Amino acid sequence: MSVKLSETEDEILQYIKKFSEDELKPLAREIDSSMQIPERIIKRMKDLGFFSIYIPEKYGGNGLSFTLLVRIIEEMSKACASTALILDGALTLFAEPLIMFGSEDLKKRYLPRVANGSVGGLAITEPGAGSDAASIRTTAVKKGDKFMVNGSKIFVTNGRTSDFFVFDAVTSPGKGSKGITTFVAEKDTPGLRISRDIHKMGIRGSSTVEMVFNDMEIPEENMVGELDQGFKVIMNTLDAGRIGIAAQAIGIAQGALDEAIQYMKQRKQFGKSISEFQGLQFMIADMATRIEASRALTYDAAELWEKKSGDSVRISSMAKLFASDTAMSVTTDCVQLFGGYGYTVDFDAERHMRDAKITQIYEGTNQIQRLIIAREILKQ
Ligand SMILES: Cc1cc2nc3c(=O)[nH]c(=O)nc-3n(C[C@H](O)[C@H](O)[C@H](O)COP(=O)(O)OP(=O)(O)OC[C@H]3O[C@@H](n4cnc5c(N)ncnc54)[C@H](O)[C@@H]3O)c2cc1C
Repeated sequence: MSVKLSETEDEILQYIKKFSEDELKPLAREIDSSMQIPERIIKRMKDLGFFSIYIPEKYGGNGLSFTLLVRIIEEMSKACASTALILDGALTLFAEPLIMFGSEDLKKRYLPRVANGSVGGLAITEPGAGSDAASIRTTAVKKGDKFMVNGSKIFVTNGRTSDFFVFDAVTSPGKGSKGITTFVAEKDTPGLRISRDIHKMGIRGSSTVEMVFNDMEIPEENMVGELDQGFKVIMNTLDAGRIGIAAQAIGIAQGALDEAIQYMKQRKQFGKSISEFQGLQFMIADMATRIEASRALTYDAAELWEKKSGDSVRISSMAKLFASDTAMSVTTDCVQLFGGYGYTVDFDAERHMRDAKITQIYEGTNQIQRLIIAREILKQ
């Protein structure tokens, strides 16, 4: 499926595609097994200006489209979903809420740093508050011109890689979603401590941490948006974030399918390539169709997001739901196409399958996406 990109954007995309194939893909298995992305890869992404692409020109970026960002995340995820997540997290989860709701001061302080390659993250989930994001217990109590923050966050993507985080806390207890405020915290703020690295089934190169806030002082200028309006900031951020996850899912699925097709052409059984068996050809046709349909929904969602269309919420949830379910089924079938070899770590099929699973869970599980889609439809 083609989508409108300017000539410059297309050149950037082709360049990133080449970087992903030539430099990232050969390292992906090692990134998975060592649970670490080599510093030189992150530095290379910084040097090549990956992080500046989506940051507005006024704040030191290139001001290119959200659609381009989505296409980049897709390309990188074909090679390595963990590395793609660094960029996705920094731009859709940290920069986007500042672009949408940040004061001029916050934008000037943080967006140029992101454009220069400083990574950020979003910390909203807590041990007792996942899908029910309004039930957080972290508190921010006003003391003069500062807030005193206490509590903890779990499952923070880019935890070790980030220099700063957007996080939310209760500022008016008892008011539920209407008593939550969003802030920015620097990683080295006294009172902020990463308490645990979380080891995972997939996207193992991506750092996921638990963090604790113990009398952490945050200046009131670090508020993102208005006091007690933070839930809106978070929900809007996730609407954009879901499109990034849909793109990640498409990349994982396409990467797995490309490798399976290559394997099928050279693997011979019963005197012919297994790609000649019609039973397997039907599987390929179904997989490719679902991937293409995921693309159509996701690119549509990206365009609606750019236009700030009212339909953006419904379509971004549909894109995330459909693309992630597609990624899970396609990668599972790709393991099957490799036969016994698909079950070994000698091929990437099993890694893609493990990586795919998270796309059905984070940034709102697929059960939550169905609730959002139904709510949006019934509201019309
Ligand atoms: C690798 C990884 C990275 C992550 N990155 C981040 C991050 O960067 N920042 C961040 O803040 N969070 C992050 N998360 C957290 C993630 O978004 C949550 O795990 C997710 O939203 C689900 O919350 P939970 O784990 O508490 O599950 P729960 O909310 O406890 O859900 C358990 C099950 O119940 C279902 N369920 C819950 N409520 C309903 C309902 N009303 N109707 C039907 N079914 C329901 C869920 O779908 C799920 O199947 C990450 C998680 C992981 C694993």
